[in-house]
Amino acid sequence: MILVELASRFEELSSRLSEQYYCQYAGLTYDRELMKKLAQQLTEVSNEFLREFTEPRSMYLASIDTIAEAERLEVELDFHDKRMEKISSEKHHINGKKVNWGNWRQFNSQTDDAQKRKEVFDEFIAKAPRIAHLVERRMNTSKEVYKRYELTPLESYLELEQISFEDLLNLLMKLGDGAKETFLSAADHFAPQILKKNKTEYYDDFYTWRGRIFKPLNRYLEGRAPLDEICRFLGTLGFNISSINVDAEDRPNKSPSASCWGIRIPTDVRILYRKVSPFTNMRSIFHEFGHGIHGISANPDDSVWKRYIVPMSVAETFSMLIESVTENTLYLQEDLKLQETAVGEIVDRVRFMNLIFMTFYAANSIMKMEFWKNNYTTEEAAVRWEELTERFFIRTPGIYWILHHVMPNYDMYSPSYVIAATRVTTIKATLVQDYGEAWWRNPKAGELIKQLAQTRGEFNIKEWRLNPEPYLKEQKSLSFLE
Ligand SMILES: [Zn+2]
Repeated sequence: MILVELASRFEELSSRLSEQYYCQYAGLTYDRELMKKLAQQLTEVSNEFLREFTEPRSMYLASIDTIAEAERLEVELDFHDKRMEKISSEKHHINGKKVNWGNWRQFNSQTDDAQKRKEVFDEFIAKAPRIAHLVERRMNTSKEVYKRYELTPLESYLELEQISFEDLLNLLMKLGDGAKETFLSAADHFAPQILKKNKTEYYDDFYTWRGRIFKPLNRYLEGRAPLDEICRFLGTLGFNISSINVDAEDRPNKSPSASCWGIRIPTDVRILYRKVSPFTNMRSIFHEFGHGIHGISANPDDSVWKRYIVPMSVAETFSMLIESVTENTLYLQEDLKLQETAVGEIVDRVRFMNLIFMTFYAANSIMKMEFWKNNYTTEEAAVRWEELTERFFIRTPGIYWILHHVMPNYDMYSPSYVIAATRVTTIKATLVQDYGEAWWRNPKAGELIKQLAQTRGEFNIKEWRLNPEPYLKEQKSLSFLE
């Protein structure tokens, strides 16, 4: 088959497969057998590509990843089920059910008694080794597939992201080290109100904070329709988002976290979301519509690889850029017309979460980079992650990494959020400089964003410098520490 035919076959199969995943996340019926069949056919297409071609390079790397994904399918489904089953509390309940991996965050968000949260955390840490062998197998499968092509998942990742190991490590170190002290001081400030105790400790993880710290902000956004706000916001920027399909339906099996699906790019882009709480709804709607405009801005005449194979940090750049407006003082004051106290409180809390994010994801990302570089076992990875937590925040039992939803589930991914967040700071500086503080009211700013979005897999990564300083400086300015 010639390249264009192979690529369009790849597009066809990926579209059908992602539609099945979409249905799974939406809580609709989906066909497991069809998914397996499509994954198999995608493997065949990828194998054929790898036999016949070495270029385009992005397609080459994506083909290896597609094969690895298909070979991991069984163990990943197994991991998904066993994690729910084995990581479950004997003692604690939520809404009449045992606390398990799936409702753990909900439990932490609703439970004010810190001792109970600690007990569940310790119990889950003690049980984590029971699922470690599945993570080991998942990672080994990836390693073996990449090895056939004389690569590691890390090398492929760095190549797509166009960043060297040293530069990425350096960025992560600077952010993690730079955020640590301010994070710890701010955590002491918030602990009594949010954690109901005087000090933050190892079991108060990122998700416990996130599930609790935004609750008092809900009252400011009660009764607002986030979909109306995002339509207004993106409309002023010149985006016609009517082609983005939004599913806000509440179904029992629908995923609680919002997501955006480029089923066919640019013609079939869908957003799934389920109401959680007013503040979180606003943030996630803005985030997902960032992905949405990225998808619909693609040029339908571009090649399959240009439209579909986008570095993960580039994908997160658009979502994080749009989401960042919901923590912008001017937007909150003038567009959402919120009172000064409300604005101050929102900005402080979001920045605090960004600081935890930097410390936590510095540890997560560095561990994953070294995981592939040094050939760690899951246990060695746990030892290393524990050291990194001590360096960047608070020493936490290392096996926690197995319980995270990104670290054991992906080859890499973790650094992508950090790269994107840093890049967004650079893009925002340009927008402010060229179109003013309230750049989102200028359609010309929208044109720039649209142009950048249209580049998809050919996004000019080197054009936007990754400078940790401005990002750190902005997030470290908290009103109560001045
Ligand atoms: Zn995202």
